[in-house]
Amino acid sequence: MDGIEAVGDAVTGGLLARAVEPRAGEANGHTHEKNCLNCGTRLNGPYCSACGQKAHVHRSVRAFFQDFVQGLFNFEGKIWRTLPMLAWRPGEMTRRYIAGERARFISPVALYLFTVFAMFAVLNFTGALNPHSAKTMQEGLKTGIADDQKELAKLELKRNIALAAGQKVADLDRRIAKRQGDIADTQKVLSGQAFASAQSDNGAPGWVRPFIKNLRDNPDVVSMKVQDAASKYSWLLIPISVPFMWLLFPFRRRYNTYDHTVFVTYSLSFMMMLVVVGGVLVTLGMPSLESMLFLVPPFHMYRHLKQTYELGRFSAIMRTMALLTFAFIAAALFAVATVAIGAM
Ligand SMILES: [Zn+2]
Repeated sequence: MDGIEAVGDAVTGGLLARAVEPRAGEANGHTHEKNCLNCGTRLNGPYCSACGQKAHVHRSVRAFFQDFVQGLFNFEGKIWRTLPMLAWRPGEMTRRYIAGERARFISPVALYLFTVFAMFAVLNFTGALNPHSAKTMQEGLKTGIADDQKELAKLELKRNIALAAGQKVADLDRRIAKRQGDIADTQKVLSGQAFASAQSDNGAPGWVRPFIKNLRDNPDVVSMKVQDAASKYSWLLIPISVPFMWLLFPFRRRYNTYDHTVFVTYSLSFMMMLVVVGGVLVTLGMPSLESMLFLVPPFHMYRHLKQTYELGRFSAIMRTMALLTFAFIAAALFAVATVAIGAM
């Protein structure tokens, strides 16, 4: 009965507040409410106890921008609290978030969407997703061949010297053959033979052939559609990854699917942040630092797992190795799904 009365009160209160609103609005649009303007709950203090909205709202141009700036700073304050924790103490943050400190950090899904957006923005800016960056790949292959040929010349010189000295050359012969093989392979890729054979639909199952034909005929369109699918369906990575977490903790009832989902979503967000950092480093002309970033994921996964699930060192190492394997499988599944959607 109490509840119904309270609701009744709230409804009439809300209606009343709305009815008097135009009159209550003074020059600066200040309102004096007894009930929350958002949900009608009776007010007791500067914020609504039911929905959290401010008791007083303003109807002014200044308020219009204040709403925006406040929202922005609220997000900004949280993101500067969340990102350093995610980088250095990911397990502690995940633990605390799971335990209930929800308002303190950016929620996993919001952070995930934010990083997806940031990642695609950076990748587009650096041209990494541009199909025409194939030209720079070709130049890379050419320098690769030149380097191999230099190395080959050195090896052949060594072989001649060794032969003259009457030493064994079996090891050198093996290394020379390997270099020659490398050069031949790279030349094949450069001349387009490897690409052509990869694209030929001979032996491909019937249902795959239309995709291959589409890829060969319109590579730019397919590339765009795959990017589009990858960003649109980026959330798929979360449900793909959670079952692997079940496999990682089969007998731990203490940790449930919610915990795993929070862990996976924060972890994936961090990995995408790493891509963003890599893109920025390349743009700043520091590619050598960028190549170091490949060492970060295993280290981060180890710390994240160890702290979140309160594991011992050995158990954390074993699970990090398993998680790395699972991550590759999950990424491959996601790649197949987006390419399939993009090539359709
Ligand atoms: Zn309210």
